[in-house]
Amino acid sequence: MSLTESPSPSPSPSSSSGSDDFAALLASELELASGADSAFPSDPSSAFPATDDEGEDEDEDDDSEELEVGACPHLGYINGLCYTCGNPQDEEDVSGVALDYIHKGLRLGTSEIDRLRCADLKNLLRERKLVLILDLDHTLINSTKLQNISSAEKDLGIQTAGSKDDPNGSIFALESMQLLTKLRPFVREFLKEASNMFEMYIYTMGDKAYAIEIAKLLDPSNIYFPLKVISNSDCTQQHQKGLDVILGAESVAVILDDTEFVIKAVRKEILQGCKIVFSRVFPNNTRPQEQMIWKMAEYLGAVCSTDVDSSVTHVATVDLGTEKARWGVDNKKFLVHPRWIEAANFRWHRQPEEDFPVTPPKEKSREKDNAVAGKKKTSKDKENAAAGQMETRKDKEENAVASQKETGNDEGNVAGQEKDDAKENVVATSTTGPADS
Ligand SMILES: [Zn+2]
Repeated sequence: MSLTESPSPSPSPSSSSGSDDFAALLASELELASGADSAFPSDPSSAFPATDDEGEDEDEDDDSEELEVGACPHLGYINGLCYTCGNPQDEEDVSGVALDYIHKGLRLGTSEIDRLRCADLKNLLRERKLVLILDLDHTLINSTKLQNISSAEKDLGIQTAGSKDDPNGSIFALESMQLLTKLRPFVREFLKEASNMFEMYIYTMGDKAYAIEIAKLLDPSNIYFPLKVISNSDCTQQHQKGLDVILGAESVAVILDDTEFVIKAVRKEILQGCKIVFSRVFPNNTRPQEQMIWKMAEYLGAVCSTDVDSSVTHVATVDLGTEKARWGVDNKKFLVHPRWIEAANFRWHRQPEEDFPVTPPKEKSREKDNAVAGKKKTSKDKENAAAGQMETRKDKEENAVASQKETGNDEGNVAGQEKDDAKENVVATSTTGPADS
């Protein structure tokens, strides 16, 4: 499956023949083409299929991407020219992501990136693999500038350094960069084992030349990281490792990195674009900004607010009867149980809102109140005696409420409840709320 012999993709956008197969070539290089179970063809010419079939079996439900003249979807560009039709990229339209690490000057549109990610995910699931994103420095290796070590250390280091193609070497002198690099013990064994379980990327904040040199040390045969070495110049945000440049599916990505900020950057994307207003979630007399769930939402990239306005996307509440909840319904905002935020935090992925509905408050009933009171006030014998009976009645009521929920009956939505009732509902819904099964 070595891609070392694969041809350098050099589409000639000015001529139509051959260039419209770049998408297929890209898929092949990324091992996404159908039949990826078979070895990568060693015959370079077969990387350019004669048909204009993209080689993807999941394209049927996609928008038709027939390449008619004048109807080019401009899936991506190389050096500013569409690799399919050769037209220059619209100055205004700079959406998509630059992927120089795959091919110099390559920029793919978001829909094409989504398609490749989707294909990659199917491929991974078929092979039962995950994506593993590996940091270099302090994770797989350590590098020291020669100027920072004593001359004795330097001499010893260079003396013991292996030649770059020594598969058993562990210390290497990168003299052109004035560096001494030490591999983590057993890193090659690790990569060999991990390659059975993961599609692996190198992702470093080091520069490109450095990343390529280290990749050669770790993977002399270019088996593990073909077209998968990402360095600082590939990042779309300065000093941040975003996953936007990775064509592997984020939902199956595992990150191995010694710094936390990379993780923070990823986390910040989970609820990006969400503006959440909380309603009767926090205890009275507390600052909402200091509450755990508020901080968690912000940590996941959401904006939290105490006031409603048109930019709000979500109302997090446990009570459909609050003013903000009703505002949310009237303005077609998402109404979610606060567990929606916890679930996103747990799964590192935004969850479907409909899985975290706000359950209607329980029907207000004197009998039930008495039953609850009876359970609380244990000193009152009479009520204690009644409690047992009430228990069964309460169950019935709950069943009744449950069936109401299903039929969408919101009679139970009683406005103007006493505070105690609201608290009970908080307790009740948070213990019986939607389980994240
Ligand atoms: Zn085009």
